[in-house]
Amino acid sequence: MDLDLTDDQRALQALCRDFAKKDILPHRDEWNTTGRFPVEVFRKMADLGLMGLLVPEEYGGTGVGAVAYVAAMEEIAKADQSVASTWNAHLTIGSLPLLYFGTEEQKRRWLVPLARGERLGAFGLTEPEAGSDARAIRTTARRDGDGWVIDGTKMFTTNAGTEISQGVILLAVSGTRADGGKEYSAFMVPRGTPGFDVGRLIPKIGWHAVDTRELIFRECRVPGDHLIGQAGVGLRQFMQALAIGRISVAALSLGLAQACLEVSIEYARQRRQFDRPISTFQAIQFKLADMATAVENARLIVFKAAWLHDRGRPFAKEAAMAKLYASDTAMHAALEAVQIHGGYGYTDEFVVSRFFRDAKILQIGEGTNEIQRLVIARLLGC
Ligand SMILES: Cc1cc2nc3c(=O)[nH]c(=O)nc-3n(C[C@H](O)[C@H](O)[C@H](O)COP(=O)(O)OP(=O)(O)OC[C@H]3O[C@@H](n4cnc5c(N)ncnc54)[C@H](O)[C@@H]3O)c2cc1C
Repeated sequence: MDLDLTDDQRALQALCRDFAKKDILPHRDEWNTTGRFPVEVFRKMADLGLMGLLVPEEYGGTGVGAVAYVAAMEEIAKADQSVASTWNAHLTIGSLPLLYFGTEEQKRRWLVPLARGERLGAFGLTEPEAGSDARAIRTTARRDGDGWVIDGTKMFTTNAGTEISQGVILLAVSGTRADGGKEYSAFMVPRGTPGFDVGRLIPKIGWHAVDTRELIFRECRVPGDHLIGQAGVGLRQFMQALAIGRISVAALSLGLAQACLEVSIEYARQRRQFDRPISTFQAIQFKLADMATAVENARLIVFKAAWLHDRGRPFAKEAAMAKLYASDTAMHAALEAVQIHGGYGYTDEFVVSRFFRDAKILQIGEGTNEIQRLVIARLLGC
């Protein structure tokens, strides 16, 4: 594994770093304080060709691969977790099911506008009664003539209620198998479909500018060509999309952990107590050394998972490990960053308090870290 990025990968990383500096950092306080979804940022990212990084050019994207994407994500995630997590959901779980399983017509119709950034993608798996236990979903899709009628509620859906949202790719129970088990299928439900109601914004501890909503489907009829791929394989399709999604959340976490480290070093160097910078106290140095070590380890496993993905090798175990390790690293780094900032770290006047609030969801979303351990253990043959 070559740890040096290629020239193209470095150029993308630099583009994202510059973009974050000019178009994210100056505005992030406003978005996170007001909770306003910054649609203009995603329009600019679309102009820069950043909204379809994992989608091939023939479908409107740039197909840069997971390694380049991870390098890009780290830069955006360092600047703001609300923007980065919106981008994360759009680029992976909100778009890739169409690329992997959609028909040619579905790709032209829905994937191309997503990859060009004209629309934002969303993924609806979680329900009020079904989170970790995806098989327990209750949303149903019953055949009706040449179409399907969808009923149910999706919970915590990211990106479905913004002015540029396309709709949602959702999983529903679509029948019963011969052995009596549930059969699942994936559907694209465009915004504005009668019977599809976008619920209120759900208030959260962090990720304040992220559009997180409940989605309600009542007698929501979609034509037969809204079924993604074949009927009956939806759960497998969703699990496949989540595997790459985990690399992405791991990169999101890596960016936050790196940001915690950088601001903590800066603060520790300038904050003086007992007539010297607190960075000269060994207690603080050890915290920074441990943070830096964990961040570097997280970076290695995140890039390894991405590298395996790009070579077409199995990557599910490393993706789960990366998500688990990087999100725990981010949470711990945020805790230590607040500690290093003392009382100021507990105020909203220092960015570390936001990092602290944003970190927790990384251990929960895209499969909780308990579920990541189950995935890893299963892939170890247990
Ligand atoms: C801000 C935000 C954005 C989100 N975006 C999306 C989205 O876009 N699309 C989407 O589909 N979902 C989304 N989610 C949902 C997220 O993926 C779920 O919250 C997550 O999978 C956990 O499900 P749950 O909340 O129902 O918790 P539960 O599954 O009820 O888990 C509760 C606790 O029990 C533990 N637990 C459960 N089962 C086991 C087990 N077998 N062994 C050990 N421990 C277990 C969990 O680890 C957790 O600690 C989002 C959530 C949030 C908060």
